[in-house]
Amino acid sequence: MTNTDAELLALTRAMIDLDHSVKREAAEWAATALGGADLVDADHRSVFAVDDWRRCADRGIHRLMVPKEYGGLGADRATTLLTLEGLGYGCKDNGLTFALASQIVSSQVTLTRFATDEQRERWLPGLLDGSLFAALAMTEPDSGSDAFSLRATAEKQPDGTYVLNGHKAYLTFGPVADLCIAFASTRPEAGGWGISAFLVPMDLPGVVQGPLREKMGMRTTPFGDIEFHDVVLASDALLSREGAGASIFSAVLDIERAYVFAPQIGAMERQLHDATAYALEREQGGQPIARYQAVSHRLVAMKERHEHCRLLLYRAAMADVTGRGMSLAASLAKIATADAGIASSVDAALLHGAKGYVSEFEIERQLRDAVGGLVYSGTTDVLRNIVARHLGVV
Ligand SMILES: Cc1cc2nc3c(=O)[nH]c(=O)nc-3n(C[C@H](O)[C@H](O)[C@H](O)COP(=O)(O)OP(=O)(O)OC[C@H]3O[C@@H](n4cnc5c(N)ncnc54)[C@H](O)[C@@H]3O)c2cc1C
Repeated sequence: MTNTDAELLALTRAMIDLDHSVKREAAEWAATALGGADLVDADHRSVFAVDDWRRCADRGIHRLMVPKEYGGLGADRATTLLTLEGLGYGCKDNGLTFALASQIVSSQVTLTRFATDEQRERWLPGLLDGSLFAALAMTEPDSGSDAFSLRATAEKQPDGTYVLNGHKAYLTFGPVADLCIAFASTRPEAGGWGISAFLVPMDLPGVVQGPLREKMGMRTTPFGDIEFHDVVLASDALLSREGAGASIFSAVLDIERAYVFAPQIGAMERQLHDATAYALEREQGGQPIARYQAVSHRLVAMKERHEHCRLLLYRAAMADVTGRGMSLAASLAKIATADAGIASSVDAALLHGAKGYVSEFEIERQLRDAVGGLVYSGTTDVLRNIVARHLGVV
């Protein structure tokens, strides 16, 4: 059997097994080991559970997707998805699991796929042991969905160094990052073809990391801006080659869309489990509310969304294995999961009545956490444009 066939078989098995042992073990571990999160979101402050982050690193979560030759576990895609799903089920801190998925999928995949051996040796060990944080920085105040219209520039100097200027905004890990993978134009007149990617250490003169930005949901994920003021970068800060930035970014975004939602799929399953238990326990009119068809059908809708999104997620990972249809499959998975995250969170809130609305029961937290999913990794509007292009209608 080829490696491709083995990966596809493992993904198929994982896809049809809702109670897979890898997922269950990850969920059980997360439920007991990752406890610190409950308090911090209620404070309405961005407090990142750094001890839980380190526990995840000690458990090897950060190493999952990294090949063995670079110090990782080289886990297959099924194991990665099942583990992330399990973490999402077991750990209530969606901000932590999002941050985790974001770093291992976006930043670390960028390094393993596009960096030189020297660049990997410099950055990967600290990222894998949980002591360093990396931000992937494309968005700017004036360029979001239209990412390739960015204004940041990296001007090459006669001695081979680059001078980086620009403002990157709304970055996961921005204010606390040790490394920023920053996209900037080395040839502004060439538009998207002139974009390059750089590995920027955050202790260089001219780097200004902004304060933590408070936000509606996933409050425990560090989030904010980074500014570059005449930052001098050595020539070995360039990732791949000049002009490769747009293709690196597009490839990484497809991967991100295919994997970063795995914890949310797990969280949706937990939400369904908790809502079902409540519907059976809560009595009104002399019977459990689950006996009312309006309530049971709401649970059925949540179940259907969970399974539907899960299938699309595994389908996207299969496209990643075969190298065919990744952009379409990842876009469909992201659209479905982002929309379902909102719909199921509203259903869960209504099912809990007033308890779903007040903060102390944390039902509403899931809804707040889900809203970011409509935006990051490309808004669902922009992804619908991608799907429409695949259909040949625009
Ligand atoms: C939780 C979270 C984490 C993030 N992490 C990062 C990160 O780590 N790194 C990073 O670089 N960025 C990150 N971002 C930023 C994110 O990538 C951008 O917010 C996103 O690309 C949208 O850009 P924008 O906010 O400028 O909105 P805009 O692009 O201004 O969009 C505003 C509205 O217009 C719509 N719109 C815009 N263009 C089109 C179009 N062509 N077709 C249809 N509708 C359109 C959008 O759908 C949206 O509704 C993060 C955002 C969030 C919420």
